[in-house]
Amino acid sequence: MAERKRILTGVRPTGSLHLGHYAGALENWVRLQGEYECFFLIADYQVSDYADDISRVRDSVWEVALDWLAVGLDPENSSFVVESLVPEHAELTTWLSWFLPLGMLERNPTLKAEMEALERGDETHAGKSVPVAFYTYPVMQVANILMPRAHLVPVGEDQLPHIELTREVARRFNRDFKPVFPEPEALVGRVPRLVGTDGNAKMSKSRGNTIDLKEPRESVAKKVKGMYAGPPRGATEPGVAEENPIFLYLEAFDPDKAEVASLKETYEKSGLPNKVLKDRLDGVLNALLDPIRERRSYYETRMPLVRDALAAGSARGRAAAQETMGFVREALDINYLEKHRNAGPGQ
Ligand code: ATP
Ligand code: MG
Repeated sequence: MAERKRILTGVRPTGSLHLGHYAGALENWVRLQGEYECFFLIADYQVSDYADDISRVRDSVWEVALDWLAVGLDPENSSFVVESLVPEHAELTTWLSWFLPLGMLERNPTLKAEMEALERGDETHAGKSVPVAFYTYPVMQVANILMPRAHLVPVGEDQLPHIELTREVARRFNRDFKPVFPEPEALVGRVPRLVGTDGNAKMSKSRGNTIDLKEPRESVAKKVKGMYAGPPRGATEPGVAEENPIFLYLEAFDPDKAEVASLKETYEKSGLPNKVLKDRLDGVLNALLDPIRERRSYYETRMPLVRDALAAGSARGRAAAQETMGFVREALDINYLEKHRNAGPGQ
């Protein structure tokens, strides 16, 4: 069989995964895991904004692994890699940072927005100074993608600037040294950016506006009930569906597209109580989440299996990384000890 092309993608261990991860990324990972050789990364080098809360990071490594198993990623067929168990990521980041102009980072819109949020402070971060590691995390993300010489990177829309940067770095490296890296393609999920339950532009762990994949039924019901549903409006007053996140969620997760279209029509013509829409959404989300919850509870009672998945996946990730670093050293011509071989006394 021809070698499968490779996928590299990942998340930061900063909390449980949510519907945004699912529709923006995970769904594609599950779909593609048979076709590609996949490396799914838990990026624990990239949580400098949680440096004062390492216990959260530690717990989240397991949470992420459980969520991945729960959505149906298969750790035998794919590799679950803990970033810091493959220290070659740090090494490649250092080499690449030699060749990456500062201006390329300064222009990165995602980085800019995140730094502003960090300095301003949000729910989880009191306003604080930006650590150097935060400034350079896109370089490390480039190293993550290049490490297994990935062809495809399935991610949410906010990651596109990082992948553009990766392509540029790969091109430069291949041109200036040796052709080591494929130029990876981005693949954005069905829902490029899911809005938060508060109506904010992005559902995000750091904003606390999520519905998590492990959320119990009662909690889903409560969150859906409290969801922002567009500007205030009487139940029989026509509304604008695009302004109501409940519709965005129904469009994202309701398998009955015809029914959603018909609800939308009614809503825009003669109005509909938000309760009708919210009750429907509650049912739709639980139908999606029930099998995920079930698989999760299977693994929660068998944590050694989760540990094995992380250990075996990280070992495979490390083997791929060491192979790549061999090519990188050769391309950069830094195999110092290749010289003066067999030059010891008496030889
Ligand atoms: P944090 O706020 O800690 O950065 P996050 O929720 O943004 O957390 P990440 O670990 O940064 O999560 O992102 C993991 C992957 O999930 C990325 O590919 C990202 O684009 C995708 N993703 C995260 N949130 C959403 C969302 N609301 N809609 C679509 N994709 C998303
Ligand atoms: Mg993020």
